[in-house]
Amino acid sequence: MTTLYCACCGRPFVRTSARGPAPRYCSQDCRLQMAVRRRAWAPWIEAGRADNGRTETGRTDPAAWGRRAFGS
Ligand SMILES: [Zn+2]
Repeated sequence: MTTLYCACCGRPFVRTSARGPAPRYCSQDCRLQMAVRRRAWAPWIEAGRADNGRTETGRTDPAAWGRRAFGS
């Protein structure tokens, strides 16, 4: 028996079956909850990727954009 830790709630749980990939969640509830969270995070993750190289302040601070527009 292998003790695993749930990727959702962090609770230790015992792997019931040795077949297939190791489960990451202690219960179906946790699995569903993480699926919901992933969906909520996805836009932010995508935005981070699209914005690669730019700083958070440069993206959100209007003054930074103004400097960039009128700087050169
Ligand atoms: Zn859990």
